[in-house]
Amino acid sequence: MKILPLNLCMILSSLGAGLYCSAVTPISPKNKIIILLGPPGSGKGTQAVTLAKDLNIPHISTGDLFRENIRNKTPLGREVQANIEAGRLVPDEIVLQMLYKRVEKNDCKSGFLLDGFPRTIAQAETLDNYISGKADLIVINLAVSDEAITKRAEGRLTCRACGTVHNKYFSPPKVEDKCDNCGGELYQRADDALEVVQERLRVYHAQSEPLIEFYSRQGMLTTINGEDSRNVVYADLKKVVNDGLDT
Ligand SMILES: [Zn+2]
Repeated sequence: MKILPLNLCMILSSLGAGLYCSAVTPISPKNKIIILLGPPGSGKGTQAVTLAKDLNIPHISTGDLFRENIRNKTPLGREVQANIEAGRLVPDEIVLQMLYKRVEKNDCKSGFLLDGFPRTIAQAETLDNYISGKADLIVINLAVSDEAITKRAEGRLTCRACGTVHNKYFSPPKVEDKCDNCGGELYQRADDALEVVQERLRVYHAQSEPLIEFYSRQGMLTTINGEDSRNVVYADLKKVVNDGLDT
C-alpha cells in the first residue's frame, strides 16, 4: 500500500466540515488510519484500546464521542441525547461532525484508530471519498461467530459490588454466584440478555456486515480469527498492522 501525505484540512473540507477546520495541522506522511470491524461482543473495543496505546495514536470510538459530547453539553451532544432518548439512531450527519471535530485535534496528526466507525456503507463511502489515496488505511475485521458471541454474553456474570466480570464458561467464579474479587453477588447485566444480544447481532448483520465486502473489494481488508484467546488475537492484530505499515 502506498503511503502519501494526508492533509487533514483538505479532507475535512471535502466532507463539509469546514466549520471545524480553522487550525489544522497537516498529518505526517507516516499517517495511518486503522479501522477495526467486528460484531458487537467480538472484543474489538478492548483490543482497540490496547493497540492504540501501543501505537501511540488516539483510540476514537463513536460511543466515547457520544458520551463526551453529552457530558460536556455541546450542541452536538444535545442532538445525540435527543435522538437516543427518542429511541432513534443518531443521524450520520451528527456522527460525522463529531468525528471530524475530534480528528482535527493535534494528537491525530500522525494517525488514529477508529472503533465503531464506519458503521454503515454510507459512512464508509464518505470516509473513503475523503481519504482516498491520501492516507494509509488499514482495515481489520475481527471475525467471531454469532454462536461464540451469544455464548460469551450468556455466560458473563458481573459483580454488583465491584464490577468484576466473570464468565461461567471461560472464567467461572470459585464459589458459585460469588465474586472472586470481593465475594459480592454476581448477576447478568440487562444488555447481556439473550434477546438483547440477538437484536444487536441482527442490526450488525443488516447494517455493518456489508462493510466487510466493501473493504474486501478494495483489497484493504484483513480478517483475523477473533475467537482465539485475547493474547493470540492481539498478536495477530499487531502483525497485520505492522505489515500494513511496512508496505
Ligand atoms: Zn466483586
